Amino acid sequence: MTAAVQVGVLALQGSFEPHARAVRRLGHEPVLVRARADLGGLTHLILPGGESTTLHHLLVLFGLFDEIRERAARGELALFGTCAGAILMGQDDGTRPPRFGLIDATLARNAYGRQVDSFEAELAPGEFGAAPLRAIFIRAPCLTGVGPQVRVLARHRGEPVLVEQGPHLAATFHPELAGEDRILARFLGLGEGRRVGPAASQHAAPAAGAKPKLRPRA
Ligand code: GLN
Repeated sequence: MTAAVQVGVLALQGSFEPHARAVRRLGHEPVLVRARADLGGLTHLILPGGESTTLHHLLVLFGLFDEIRERAARGELALFGTCAGAILMGQDDGTRPPRFGLIDATLARNAYGRQVDSFEAELAPGEFGAAPLRAIFIRAPCLTGVGPQVRVLARHRGEPVLVEQGPHLAATFHPELAGEDRILARFLGLGEGRRVGPAASQHAAPAAGAKPKLRPRA
């Protein structure tokens, strides 16, 4: 059942157009979200890569930050964050920008170095089938702590880079720039894996501001 899926792409800054094209490839017309009114009726929202402090600033300026956090915390909205979007989904760690705190994980910005240290990699596909996942890392963050409610779906050099908690997915890389649509399909409940989405979530997202129960990376 995917008829009720309504997908938005946060379109304030960053790499939102490639996400919108990926959503269309999977047969859905995305809503480009720039104002609170655009969130009405959405079941899924993609937070693109870009610059997380700028994204946070614009989210607050346009009255979207609290609205997205509250809808997601109430289980009405599933989030898929890539790179800067993933940073925003994690828990506050005392550095900028302030985070949504919707997944039980912390992320450190620019963990691989500068823009010139950006790279492409093939990741073991795990639950995504036989072919490796194509991943593009651009000034990517890393997951510095992952709590027990978080499932690691893909790793790079042993470190988690794609995680899932209830209806939410966070990737430290850019699947949308590599034409890697299997992760988006899973987010929208179109993949072979278990149905994800607000209505089907087995695990409530932690309340905004809840204390993270983190364990250090292995
Ligand atoms: N380095 C950016 C940040 O810290 C993220 C880069 C990206 O989204 N590709 O916000």
